Amino acid sequence: MINVELKGGVVQQFEENITPAQIAKSISMGLYKNVCAALIDGKVCDLRTELTADCKVELLTFDNDEGKQAFWHTTSHILAQAVKRLYPEAKLAIGPSIDEGFYYDFDVEKPFDSEDLLKIEAEMKKIVKSGIEISRFEKAPQDALDFLNEIAEPYKVELASEHAGKGEPISFYKQAEFVDLCAGPHLMSVAPVKAFKLTNCTGAYWRGDSKNQQLCRVYGISFPKASMLEEYITRREEAFKRDHNKLGRELELFTTVDYIGQGLPIMLPKGARIIQLLQRWVEDLEQKNGWQLTKTPFMAKSDLYKISGHWDHYQDGMFILQKLSRPAHAIERDLYAVP
Ligand SMILES: [Zn+2]
Repeated sequence: MINVELKGGVVQQFEENITPAQIAKSISMGLYKNVCAALIDGKVCDLRTELTADCKVELLTFDNDEGKQAFWHTTSHILAQAVKRLYPEAKLAIGPSIDEGFYYDFDVEKPFDSEDLLKIEAEMKKIVKSGIEISRFEKAPQDALDFLNEIAEPYKVELASEHAGKGEPISFYKQAEFVDLCAGPHLMSVAPVKAFKLTNCTGAYWRGDSKNQQLCRVYGISFPKASMLEEYITRREEAFKRDHNKLGRELELFTTVDYIGQGLPIMLPKGARIIQLLQRWVEDLEQKNGWQLTKTPFMAKSDLYKISGHWDHYQDGMFILQKLSRPAHAIERDLYAVP
């Protein structure tokens, strides 16, 4: 028997090799259905992890950040499964969860359009409805590589061969016919992914390197309840209406041109006037409150940045003025820099 400390410091005894999933089930079926991952002694773990010694276990649901990550990562596998069913030639790259949702990168002949995304969503719905159980298994490094070569997933072979060097077993997750090389953690089945939406499709390079193959990245979001998805969509629509980039252009506050840079706004008269008024307001307020203004130069000798540490760490990102031929009245240092 082992002692497991649960929520609120309650210690319970369980048989050795019990898993967090089984613990959740022993507490209630409702919790088992909602649980997404577990913290075992503070480390995020899969629900299938066997507990072999006394430990502290926290069961994570969609309400916890780590639980959400497992939920979204599981949805990315459902997306990949749907894509493989509809486009068997598609090659799988990576499919992580992100701050808000998930994505999966596919190597496909033709990037997906909005109609393809609808088809994929429909297939994902079928998968969720079937409630397939998700299982985890491990293979020895060479067996893992052989397997991935056999199922012709070159990107996965590349990823696995990097892990293979360590000599440790490589983990996979399986849901029906779909198997993915994956460190996890994952939900116990696809069933809890009740509401989802594929939100966007963009190009992305394998490993973020423009020398590599261009892939098709499909973004999505998912929730355990339909109402949560509706809320999310409304929030996004509202945020889009208030998008400063869109509003600022419509109100003629600023514009951009390609030869200056898309991230570098040119303030138009109305925008410049707003800045001017704000600046005056702030300056007046500061003066009223007894603040005194000083002005420092925009540039400084490199000495300053050597003291601050910028010189050693951020030199590539600094604008450095270097006098190649010194005039007679040579400035005492020939390097000036702006961070
Ligand atoms: Zn995965």
